[in-house]
Amino acid sequence: MTERIDAGGTIGILGGGQLGRLLALAAAKLGYNTHVFCPEHACPASLVSTHTTCAAYDDFEALDAFAHQIDVATFEFENVPSETVARIAGSVQVRPSWTALEIAQDRAKEKAFFADIGAATAPWRPVHSLEDLIAAFTAVDTPAILKTARLGYDGKGQILIDNPEEAEAAWSEITSGQNLESAMVPFAVLEGFVKFTSEISVIAARGLDGHTQCFEPVENVHKKHILHTTTAPANISPTTAKTAIGIAERAAEALDLVGIVAVEMFVTSYGGVLVNEMAPRPHNSGHWTLDACQTDQFTQLIRAICGLPLAEPLRHSNAVMTNLLGDEISNLEAFHADPACHVYVYGKTEPRPGRKMGHVTRLSSLTN
Ligand code: AMP
Repeated sequence: MTERIDAGGTIGILGGGQLGRLLALAAAKLGYNTHVFCPEHACPASLVSTHTTCAAYDDFEALDAFAHQIDVATFEFENVPSETVARIAGSVQVRPSWTALEIAQDRAKEKAFFADIGAATAPWRPVHSLEDLIAAFTAVDTPAILKTARLGYDGKGQILIDNPEEAEAAWSEITSGQNLESAMVPFAVLEGFVKFTSEISVIAARGLDGHTQCFEPVENVHKKHILHTTTAPANISPTTAKTAIGIAERAAEALDLVGIVAVEMFVTSYGGVLVNEMAPRPHNSGHWTLDACQTDQFTQLIRAICGLPLAEPLRHSNAVMTNLLGDEISNLEAFHADPACHVYVYGKTEPRPGRKMGHVTRLSSLTN
């Protein structure tokens, strides 16, 4: 298995969404071919990649053929089944490794991981039964959020509990249609509701040589649990920024990461930092780097997994990235007319409500 992959090599990407699309474009810029593996036809990434395999993640024949045509594999979403990764890893390097994915796929493992590296999270308890949930309120005050341990994103699989008396209703809602006998243990976590002053994220990249580089912290505003805007830089103190960067660096080290990891955090009123979650892949809150930095999260990922040195992630402009959801994608005139705006359209045909269709990054002069 090759360590360094030179231009002309082929990068396999599991997943075909906008993250895969922007990753394929970054790979092309550096002279690499891409091969997207995705179950959906005409997915955003396949429209710009060199090759596509359209097959299910449990189609081992298709996975084997894919693995033999690529020099390294990576992923653009973290819910890739473990069997899929194991199958590919039998023939070709998967970067980041399964360890990073396995932790990120499970909120309980993720929180334990952050505790191990000395990063605080909201108080939490694992929950696998109604009895566990009731008992968890002795450690976690209300309001609290009950979250499925796996497969939750953009607020899906989450219930706010204002009072322990709501436990039974919350438990039956979150477990509705689920087979707890076969579910991974724990099925859910109960975590304290954080009265944050802001939400921030840091993206750390780590190369094959173990060298780590972080983009600076940015501030994220969510609407209905979906990222609405990312502002760079975050309006936080230098001490808070240093703490946040330190956490992302330690996470990358502890995962022995080759690739990038986005760490989402809450900032509390006293400037403390509590980790919410991480994703060992490109992240929506890193899109601003495409236009406001000397390098971007996608290029950094390609550099890392191909064994190239990482670039300096310095910011040259202030930026506000806004997601374009659903029908907002058909209203681009003002953005196109504004020379400070960089518009991205992901090539999705159906603008369903809440669906990420594109984004726009508006740059302004560097102030700090
Ligand atoms: P998540 O799926 O965990 O990233 O949650 C999506 C969004 O819900 C977060 O970005 C926050 O805005 C909000 N949220 C999640 N967990 C908490 C929490 N423990 N306290 C307060 N807000 C939360």
